[in-house]
Amino acid sequence: MSESLSTDILIVGGGVAGLWLNARLRRLGYSTLLADRGVLGGGQSVKSQGIIHGGTKYALSGALTGASEAISDMPRRWREALEGNGELDLRGVRLLSDAHYLWSPGTLTGNLTSFFASKAVRSRVGQVKGDQLPAALQHPRFKGKVYRLSELVLDVPSLIQRLAQLAGDGLVKADRIEPLYEGGELTGLVIDGRPIRAQRIVLTAGAGNAELLAALGLAQPAMQKRPLHMVIVKAATLKPLYAHCLGGGTKPRLTVTSHPAEDGEWVWYLGGDLAEAAGVARDEAAQISAAKKELAELVPWIDLAAAKWATLRIDRAEPAQSSLARPDNAFLAEAGRLLVGWPTKLALSPDFADRVEAALTRDGIAPQTHPALPDLPRPELTRPFWDGLL
Ligand code: FAD
Repeated sequence: MSESLSTDILIVGGGVAGLWLNARLRRLGYSTLLADRGVLGGGQSVKSQGIIHGGTKYALSGALTGASEAISDMPRRWREALEGNGELDLRGVRLLSDAHYLWSPGTLTGNLTSFFASKAVRSRVGQVKGDQLPAALQHPRFKGKVYRLSELVLDVPSLIQRLAQLAGDGLVKADRIEPLYEGGELTGLVIDGRPIRAQRIVLTAGAGNAELLAALGLAQPAMQKRPLHMVIVKAATLKPLYAHCLGGGTKPRLTVTSHPAEDGEWVWYLGGDLAEAAGVARDEAAQISAAKKELAELVPWIDLAAAKWATLRIDRAEPAQSSLARPDNAFLAEAGRLLVGWPTKLALSPDFADRVEAALTRDGIAPQTHPALPDLPRPELTRPFWDGLL
């Protein structure tokens, strides 16, 4: 423990929240080091559906809620970053779709009629027909209605790759991370035996935050996990579709995103109500049967006889909320030099970085000069998770 290493901000966890924050802070002139014990992006981030929500789906409950308001600026901020004019230069990240769609398979129920009639929703969505429909829905047997949302869908592996590039040499693969206390105060972290001091330490380890907090002897902020049981289907007959299929309720019946497989075929990744409580209770075979039934009802013209199927269980990690409700914003808590949080959605990573930046500014934390860090082992980047499952 003789080396004296330091940086301005130490970040633990290289999902989209930590990587986005890291790139933002570096752009502001801070020196940073981000430590991850796994592969970058390999937690929830790569298993997300990659939708940069503007919040419209949360308006399904009738009125625009807090969630809808907080998130409504995110598509613009991401779009600017993708064009190279934003807070980060994300040129080169693969845009899978410039729009996400709301798709009502039949006649609208009363609930949905008032949803589309509301002024807030009308300003965000426009109906599409004919050859403007998503490719997978362009079929004479398709009878539903489709509305275009101004939301994006990103290829998450290429996003992680770009954010890792922006991290330069500030990444370290860490098997053991322990708190560094000096004079009874947390002053940094001991990463694989190397003490590293920092002005601030930010935990963005997703589901790993609870364990890191416990190691620091902290019970707050409490974390909740929301389990999901997603379905993956791959077939030569699938064309891209990015859409929430509406049922009668306040949550989408099915959310479909499409991801490119190595062999050029498309993989459909199915979430929404299918993946929530009832889906979590099903075993893999029953969950695949439920998904087959949904697709047979909703897109009967797609031949899935030769399709390959798999399921994926994954927890969403978020700050604890009453009755497992969705948090409205990115969440950040502070205790001295320690900051800890969850973006709660990939789309809200810029909001998470805003909160950290505001805390640094408020506390007068400015970039300082530090000796260069030694060569450190670099974490690997995530691969598309579906390549390993199908
Ligand atoms: P993670 O991506 O989980 O990253 C945490 C990182 O911390 C990992 O790299 C891990 O290796 C590392 N780590 C963990 N413990 C430790 C430790 N002790 N020491 C060091 N490193 C550690 N959001 C959207 O906006 N749009 C969507 O379409 C969307 N779809 C989703 C679909 C699913 C099925 C799920 C589960 C989530 C979805 N989300 C979506 C939410 C989104 O994925 C998450 O909010 C976001 O990815 C969280 O990012 P994160 O960086 O906080 O965590």
